Amino acid sequence: MIEFKQITRNKLLLVLFSCILTLFLSNRANSQNTTTLAQNFLNINYGGNYYATMLEADRFYKQGDLQKAKQIQKQVKPDFPEPDPVPAAESDLAKLDGTAKQYWDTANQAIQEDPDDDDEVDARIFEPLESLVDNYPQFVPGHILLADTYDLYGAEDEALSTIEIAAEKYPERNDVLDKRIELLLAYDQPLEASIAAREFAYSYPESPKSAAYQSDANEYFQKYQKQLKSKVTTSSILGGIGQAAIGNEEQGLSLGQMLLQGESATGEAIANSYKAQSSMVSDGTQLEYIRGIGNKLAELMGRDEFEYEFNIINDPTPNALALPGGKIFFHTGMLELMDSEAELAGVMAHEVAHAVLSHGYKKLGESAIANTGTNLLSGLAGDRATSVAEVGSTLLDKQFSRDKEKQADVLGIRVLDAGGYSADGLYNVMAKLAQLEGKGNIAKSLLSSHPASETRMEYLEELIQTKGYNRYGYEGVEAYRNVFPR
Ligand SMILES: [Zn+2]
Repeated sequence: MIEFKQITRNKLLLVLFSCILTLFLSNRANSQNTTTLAQNFLNINYGGNYYATMLEADRFYKQGDLQKAKQIQKQVKPDFPEPDPVPAAESDLAKLDGTAKQYWDTANQAIQEDPDDDDEVDARIFEPLESLVDNYPQFVPGHILLADTYDLYGAEDEALSTIEIAAEKYPERNDVLDKRIELLLAYDQPLEASIAAREFAYSYPESPKSAAYQSDANEYFQKYQKQLKSKVTTSSILGGIGQAAIGNEEQGLSLGQMLLQGESATGEAIANSYKAQSSMVSDGTQLEYIRGIGNKLAELMGRDEFEYEFNIINDPTPNALALPGGKIFFHTGMLELMDSEAELAGVMAHEVAHAVLSHGYKKLGESAIANTGTNLLSGLAGDRATSVAEVGSTLLDKQFSRDKEKQADVLGIRVLDAGGYSADGLYNVMAKLAQLEGKGNIAKSLLSSHPASETRMEYLEELIQTKGYNRYGYEGVEAYRNVFPR
């Protein structure tokens, strides 16, 4: 049954680390079908006209005539809708009207008086504060006070979601970020605090506070490792998932022990096992091409303690995945779906961002702590398809959450734009995936637990528009086709 086990492990790894770009189950029969659909889509939508237009735009771009390049690209790229304007953040209550001041004063006075009665707390504190935040979302101290007050009354989830909404609206505000980190640390979520600090540091490298957040991120990360150590080292059952995930029975390293060696060591162990079990593409030209782009984007991202690695796997499912420590894998099915270097760079930047923000590492840590290993161990030991399927579906729920996907998008698109690529590279790949979804070739179980590509597209549109990123940069259609011929 060795072969069966290997397939199971491959599936497990895929399930553990696939990001939302995964829209298909790794079922061989379906996969073949998928490739055909992808090809049809390409022939219909990205035939000679699109290619020729982009080729011409690239020619002007390379000559430095960015205006002309933009003009040409606009012929085949419909404009995005204007985003709803986000009001500029405001810290001064005096700049708002009397109603805002009334909400603020009423709540503050009641907080001082600290009423006992729950109804009174709701009516005198939370109602005015929630009205303040709803009606004056630009007033940042309102969000902070509401989060603090939820915290004061022991409503942790509400406190966090309040500050997260504010952080999403005003990601550049240090006061919001500091409050978010403070709450995450208070609620014993040091890795999440580390990710938040890192997200700021790499999203705003020009900020004078960037270096401080980066060092804070490392400090919180160490805190997380201590927490992990105390939670996992006492549990022997965890050996099961560790061995299964890294395929390394000889060493008998548990998942917890593996994680304690850090992100790079964890990623490397899993990557080596993954490579040994997969059909790897060894075409030197293709590998050199994706490695050049990957390394350039990783450098722009700024987290330089990783040994980044970019690999291609023979697999027709359109997928890409990021292991901890910057080990990135592209499926041939994903490369076939794409038509330009900007699209490749879009997916690449998104995946590198997952690694930079420790998303895979976090997910493994959650599995270790939640003892997911127990089920997995019995599933593998028994070699029973039903148990394995159960384990698979349990882990599918643990795919990167919507907020992690957004984080990777935000950071990824910043770097995509900074690299001179058309900032809608990832968007265009999403459009192709959405087209495939529309053809109904997607497992319903996956769709039900993930935001559909179209939702992602709307969000990416808004992101590109509000940040003013350039959709009409280098597209690189010829460079891409030279390496991945049609
Ligand atoms: Zn993702």
